[in-house]
Amino acid sequence: MTGAKRAVIFLCGTAGGLASVFVVGMGGFAALDSARIIMFSILLALLGLATFRRVTFKQPPARAKQVSKWISVWPMLVELEVALAAVSVIYATLWMFPDSAQMVYPTLYVGAAFAGSFSRWGVVGLSLATAGSMEYALVHAGRQSPNDLAVHVTSLIVFSILHWVFMRGLIRAQQNQNRRRVMQEANVTREEIRDFRLLASSLSSGSKETRTRKQQEDMLLKGGADAVRSNAKGILELTRSALSAETAALVWLYPKQEVVLRAVSTVSETPLVTLPMPARMLHAVLRAPQAQNWASINADLIPYYQGKSGKTSVAVCPIVESGRVRGLVCVDRKVAFREWEISTLESAAKQIEKNLESEKLFLAVERAKYEYEKFFHASASLCQALTPEQVMTTALESAAQIAPFDVALVTAYHNDRRKHSVMCLQDDSGGDVINTKGLVGLEFGNNKGLVSMVVKNRHFLPAAGEVRDNLTHILTPKFKLKRASSLLVLPLLVGDKVIGTLVLISKEKGVYGRDVREMLSVIANQVAISLENGVLFKKMEQMATTDGLTNLTNHRTFQQKFEALLDSSGRHGRKLSVLLCDIDHFKSVNDTYGHPVGDEVLRRVSKVLKLATRKIDVPARYGGEEFAVVLDATDEDGATKLADRIRQDVESMVIPSEKGSFKVTMSIGVATFPADGHDRGVLIENADQSLYYAKENGRNQVVHHQTLQKKHGVA
Ligand code: GH3
Ligand code: MG
Ligand code: MG
Repeated sequence: MTGAKRAVIFLCGTAGGLASVFVVGMGGFAALDSARIIMFSILLALLGLATFRRVTFKQPPARAKQVSKWISVWPMLVELEVALAAVSVIYATLWMFPDSAQMVYPTLYVGAAFAGSFSRWGVVGLSLATAGSMEYALVHAGRQSPNDLAVHVTSLIVFSILHWVFMRGLIRAQQNQNRRRVMQEANVTREEIRDFRLLASSLSSGSKETRTRKQQEDMLLKGGADAVRSNAKGILELTRSALSAETAALVWLYPKQEVVLRAVSTVSETPLVTLPMPARMLHAVLRAPQAQNWASINADLIPYYQGKSGKTSVAVCPIVESGRVRGLVCVDRKVAFREWEISTLESAAKQIEKNLESEKLFLAVERAKYEYEKFFHASASLCQALTPEQVMTTALESAAQIAPFDVALVTAYHNDRRKHSVMCLQDDSGGDVINTKGLVGLEFGNNKGLVSMVVKNRHFLPAAGEVRDNLTHILTPKFKLKRASSLLVLPLLVGDKVIGTLVLISKEKGVYGRDVREMLSVIANQVAISLENGVLFKKMEQMATTDGLTNLTNHRTFQQKFEALLDSSGRHGRKLSVLLCDIDHFKSVNDTYGHPVGDEVLRRVSKVLKLATRKIDVPARYGGEEFAVVLDATDEDGATKLADRIRQDVESMVIPSEKGSFKVTMSIGVATFPADGHDRGVLIENADQSLYYAKENGRNQVVHHQTLQKKHGVA
């Protein structure tokens, strides 16, 4: 049926009523009692019909309103029909029963007041105009004076306006009160949650050290989500009770038009859906992101009910975040929602939006605080790391605080040789991510690998921190990536010089996003500086403890190490021997071949000492052309044998020089703990005595202090 046709049918009753009143007004049927009664009955029937139509009237769907202009005025026509029929009945009564005026007018005023408050202005205006015409007809027919007309019309207008003003005031007051209640409760809930969370975070700060970045992030997000949910729940509870709704729900939108019920307050017995649900109702809201009001729609269109049937009214308000609809607040009940109720719903949605905003801010602050702490810890530990080894281990620990990885490694770039080398590696994947066998110490030249590229371009790779192509190699083509999703190679920059790279690989996707990369870059720069410092520190330490010419332990360090070894031998009841070696006639070497050749002899003898001894022994340059060696856990016999081997090695050494090649010999004195003394001084003195004896008795020989004692009884 077209809208126009329907409108004509609606107005039939009204037109009939008005025609009847007109006929009665003109004096028709005035004399016929039965005709009056029939006429009046018809009018009453028309009023009954109009009222029935009004009660059973269904709001046309929103889409239908867009199709025809007529359809959008249906509700008004239905109201108009009732109003005009009522006016007709009242004036017909007045015409037919003139004595009823005393009773009819109060009824008319009450009707006008009621219509003034609840009907549309168009309907009220038309009804008042009709009543005015009827009044005029009464004057025209001589049934009342013009004064009466003025009193009646003024009263009608005043009643309808006064009541409208009074009702509006009441409604506005109620509306404000509801809004205030919603706001107050929401604030209280929010404060409670905040207090609780602050309390929880201060309680947990002591154990933060053990939490990884991911755990912390999860905790924060969960806390945030919990806060938003419980907050929303409070707001929904209030909104539902303020609007006497069956259910108030917050549904969240996800891509692909899926919606999930996030929080709900309900008195409905129909089960609610909590899983992702299809949202047929959403299209309208998404198209025009503003509150929508649907009266009397099929209940199965509501996204959160499971199999609800029948008709119901729904009002929906979108939750907008940065211009995008993120969710909806929905309320439903049998009776249609009025305009002022929609504005309450809008306030509730605004409140949830605000909570979301403040929760986001709170999260950002918490995250910044956490990151600041991590940075602080990372840089503090990097500052404490002195050697390059310590720096590299700390670098991996610091990186782990910021982003997860399965494999991490540090490479160094040797600018002089144009080579890269893998300095340290941590593999938590058991070789799952990349083949790590033989990786530590691997040396390779510049190639097309990511490490080489990063060193060359001084910029991290790959662009998005993700593995795009498993064929890309990081170090050399031999070490291909296996199961890896995220990858980041960061340059270790000192000023504009690249000293190496920090490589992080993870099986997890998207772990090296922009924020993480920025933080890791800062850490990488700090690692680079600490590494430089570490190398310097190592150099200085070496300079302070070794002899520059021979690279052997210097005199002072020798004494310290000797003391420490002696200490431990004493505690463990082990023997320990000390050799004092002196090159024979070294002065004449210098004199004959020159000082530089003498230096070369010292270097070669040092090499012999290094080669002959074990790692735990301490060969040292004792001073001038004298050397000392501490042999840990070595008895008299062992020490004498080793000393003799050294003597032989030196003897067999041929030293080239401009003046022809030559050989040198060396005399060695030996003393052993505990037989030759318990402390360092005595042992050295006894070894020196033996050396002196060796020199005195022909040089190029080894003399043990105990042999000396046995032979000559020297103390
Ligand atoms: P002896 O067999 O008695 O030990 O005779 P010697 O000549 O080796 O002994 P002496 O102690 O008289 O001479 C040691 C020489 O070693 C004197 C010094 O010029 C030389 N000398 C000491 N330190 C160095 C050094 O660093 N480089 C060089 N080339 N010579 C050194
Ligand atoms: Mg000497
Ligand atoms: Mg000498």
